[in-house]
Amino acid sequence: METVKLQTEAGGAQRLEGARVADEIKREVAEEVARLKREHGFAPRLAVVQVGEDPASTIYVRNKVRTCEELGLGSERHALPAETTGEELLALVRELNAREDVDGFLVQLPLPRGIDESAVIEAIDPDKDVDGFHPVNVGRLMLRRPGLLPCTPAGIVELLVREGVEVAGARVCVVGRSNIVGRPVAELLLQRDATVTICHSRTRCLSEVTREADILIAAVGRAGLIRAEHVKPGAVVIDVGMNQIHDEVEIRQLFGDAAEKRLASLSQRGYTVVGDVHPAEVSRVAGRLTPVPGGVGLLTVAMLMKNTLTAAKRRRGIEKP
Ligand code: NAP
Repeated sequence: METVKLQTEAGGAQRLEGARVADEIKREVAEEVARLKREHGFAPRLAVVQVGEDPASTIYVRNKVRTCEELGLGSERHALPAETTGEELLALVRELNAREDVDGFLVQLPLPRGIDESAVIEAIDPDKDVDGFHPVNVGRLMLRRPGLLPCTPAGIVELLVREGVEVAGARVCVVGRSNIVGRPVAELLLQRDATVTICHSRTRCLSEVTREADILIAAVGRAGLIRAEHVKPGAVVIDVGMNQIHDEVEIRQLFGDAAEKRLASLSQRGYTVVGDVHPAEVSRVAGRLTPVPGGVGLLTVAMLMKNTLTAAKRRRGIEKP
């Protein structure tokens, strides 16, 4: 197992880099795509659907399509106007379900108000549902049957396993119980024999619960919510949060001595991105900590590529589920 370099942004915790593991997964996918082309004469194909022009969604979609190109997968982007109706979107979903050359697709969330997200997700063919959000895939996950796993939770598991963090028997605390991160990551780690606690907005004395954890996963959507008092000394901390902050005082408070780079980003772009973990405080207490950006986000895209590859091989009978 490769030793993790000691690199700190604002303190003593080792950084648990998403980039190294994401690159490793992407290299494996690219090799397998090349083999499929050579031996079976096709490259897996991903379609990404975006409705409206939410700036964050545009960045995510562009990144997904670009990564497909880098790894040799086929890709296409469907950009629909914000006024698209639910019925029009469902028609595109049905078309992508039916297309032989499309192995997997996703509809970028959030959707504009007025479109029923659940109806759209449920219309996707579960075997092409590379986001892993369809109820059939959620059910397969809970029943421990092969399916397509949601990318962020699956990426967190890959990060822990490939970086040599012992999961079996560990006490894991997940803060957040969303369908796309908190619940599935808790289930995946339970399946790897962790003892898992899930916290949420109604949890009493949050820090008393989180401080018990050997592995603490924050998936909340509140900048810097997890402070030193929430973390057991030496714990592994996975920061899923992606929050834009625009305030200089808040940036100084969150980043301490390492604030200068973030302030430069504020003046260039008008914001900087911070996780749910208070970086200056927690890096002094944690044993290992994922950076934001450069942590879990990179793994999410890598796992999407892996899911597209898996969907393609199963659909085309090259791999059994
Ligand atoms: P979400 O659906 O809004 O869920 C947030 C969860 O946090 C809820 O379960 C909520 O509890 C809980 N919560 C809110 N305030 C809390 C508090 N004060 N104490 C304890 N728990 C609290 O969010 P999500 O979709 O899971 O996303 C979470 C974060 O991860 C966001 O910043 C998002 O941008 C980021 N994210 C990143 C990636 C990536 O690739 N890096 C992927 C997905 C999401 P209740 O259930 O009680 O309301």
